[in-house]
Amino acid sequence: MNFGTRLLHNGNEIDPFTGAASIPLYQASTYHQEDVDAPGDYDYARSGNPTRHALEQTIAELEEGYRGFAFASGMAAISTVFFLFSSGDHLVVSEDLYGGTYRVLSDVLPRLGIRASFVDTTDPGQVEKAIRPETRAIYIETPSNPTLKVTDLAGVSRIAERNGLLIIVDNTFLTPYFQKPLRLGADIVIHSATKFIGGHSDVVSGLVAVKGEEVAERLALLQNALGSILGVQDAWLTMRGLKTLKARMETSTASAEKIARRLQELPGVKKVYYTGLPGHPGKDLQESQASGHGAVLSFDLGSGAKVREVLSRVRLPIVAVSLGSVESILSYPAKMSHAAMPTEERQRRGVTDGLLRLSVGLEDADDLFRDLEQAIGSRRLISVGPEWRASIV
Ligand SMILES: *Cc1c(COP(=O)(O)O)cnc(C)c1O
Repeated sequence: MNFGTRLLHNGNEIDPFTGAASIPLYQASTYHQEDVDAPGDYDYARSGNPTRHALEQTIAELEEGYRGFAFASGMAAISTVFFLFSSGDHLVVSEDLYGGTYRVLSDVLPRLGIRASFVDTTDPGQVEKAIRPETRAIYIETPSNPTLKVTDLAGVSRIAERNGLLIIVDNTFLTPYFQKPLRLGADIVIHSATKFIGGHSDVVSGLVAVKGEEVAERLALLQNALGSILGVQDAWLTMRGLKTLKARMETSTASAEKIARRLQELPGVKKVYYTGLPGHPGKDLQESQASGHGAVLSFDLGSGAKVREVLSRVRLPIVAVSLGSVESILSYPAKMSHAAMPTEERQRRGVTDGLLRLSVGLEDADDLFRDLEQAIGSRRLISVGPEWRASIV
């Protein structure tokens, strides 16, 4: 069965106890034990809950993993995975990294004796050079945020295999609809399901799928021991969102491709970052390891002043942190995701004061582009007909 079908028919969509067509909210913290010597599958909800379990099996199925786990947030998922490591262990990590992951790796884990080297994982030579005797894993985000640099997952996996390292991939930007890291050699795949998987800006949630039984057992112990589980309501919302993943990814990606191309032609736009654009250095690699380019693009307006002007004039996208929702979201990395990074380091990575990131939602692509065009000032709202003005108020 193809992916679009498996989103809806993966064996976890019908409640096994009642036949309900939507997995019910098993809003219970504990379970009656008929026989204390032979407890059932569920004894206490931190250890297991049927609603959460259905979501966990679904993500395992969709990422083609052995077992799945649901956590209270993407960061809870990532932090719990980091607890697989011990004092003295070292990780090699993509330097273009989600800010929250960077914070855990730089401010929290060193206190526990776990250290990380941040390297440009798009260059396998740098990955190889950063490996030490105490290295245990390589952690990758591809495409990276917000400049969308592409790492060769199969290539880095070969390096990991030669050195006996785990490969961990944050697949938030592409989702299993476009990219399946476990197929390409990864051992653990992580999602902030707050983004495309949930898809509606109404839930904070994290998911993990793992390839092997041994890592799955260690992670199951950690999830229960640390208690970083996803709540029942949020598990339900995540499953509800996931059912429409294909439709949302297809529509948003088609719009993102169109908007990226047209933004390139606007005089006020200095540079557009999107892996689907001809000339993007990672385009061919992206097409060899993923089946689409996703719904996130970034563009540089040249200055912070211009960014402020555009953010105050834009009408359709919400101006916010986050991505991956039904509504388009415009983020300002210099003040949001990358605010904590030293200015020089930030600019070296292309995250300039003029850079905006757009997560394209389900609005009509032409409406979105026209709105950006008027906000960037290439076209004044005054020159737009009443019909357009009425349609965006
Ligand atoms: C948002 C995000 C996270 C963190 O997820 P939360 O659900 O906010 O905790 C991790 N990685 C990436 C790529 C993200 O975009």
